[in-house]
Amino acid sequence: MPNILEVQNLSLSYYSPQGETKALENISFSVKKGEFLSIVGPSGSGKSTLLSVLAGILTPTEGCVAVAEGAKTGYMLQKDHLFEWRTIEKNILLGLELTGNLTAGTREYALNLMGQYGLSGFRNRYPSQLSGGMRQRAALIRTLALRPEILLLDEPFSALDYQTRLHVSDDIVSIIKSQRKTAILVTHDISEAVALSHRVIVLSKRPARIKAQFGIQFSLPPNNSIEAREAPEFKDYFNKIWKELDF
Ligand code: ADP
Ligand code: MG
Repeated sequence: MPNILEVQNLSLSYYSPQGETKALENISFSVKKGEFLSIVGPSGSGKSTLLSVLAGILTPTEGCVAVAEGAKTGYMLQKDHLFEWRTIEKNILLGLELTGNLTAGTREYALNLMGQYGLSGFRNRYPSQLSGGMRQRAALIRTLALRPEILLLDEPFSALDYQTRLHVSDDIVSIIKSQRKTAILVTHDISEAVALSHRVIVLSKRPARIKAQFGIQFSLPPNNSIEAREAPEFKDYFNKIWKELDF
């Protein structure tokens, strides 16, 4: 399979005593290894539902998700979900511990990641002693410690204020790219999607269908996502996506 992930004709309905809520309708797309894909859609359109299906947490009503052999997915959420009573090191090892994968080897791998990304000095600190940005970094390292090939990011920056968000999103994405991971980011922030991604898929309001797709390319490749926001093409992409987005 040349693609790391293929999604075919996904539909999903939630059923409750009040009736059926159709969240996803006939969604198909594929993702190449190493690609950074963003999915934008209005609030309540079905973005988190889609990521849960990709993670295998929810079973679609129709359609299927195929992941390349051996490729695992890892999740990162809006809240960092660090446990305040555990040190940063113990938080980072938590995923390995919970999945029964904590060995001398996996522990060393996780500690190396901490070193590589400037967290060694915070090993014995508690989450409350870290900035919002460093907390997100710790949450990412905890996810990476499980060696996923595909990272699923559910609005991971939306709890941060605007200034912080620009820097934290750039930081997190450059770590993901340096690790050569594939990423799927869902967000309602068009600027974030354009600045960070190779490609943007626009979802309709609920039930989510794919309305449009845009490959993002800058004539002068920016050095980082903050520079990308200054690129002349940035506004054009923003406007095109804006026109497609329902409210
Ligand atoms: P988004 O992440 O784009 O904001 P969600 O995927 O969370 O949207 O939700 C899509 C729609 O499905 C919403 O209308 C939401 O109310 C509904 N929904 C989400 N989870 C459930 C559930 N467990 N049961 C019933 N309806 C749900
Ligand atoms: Mg959501």
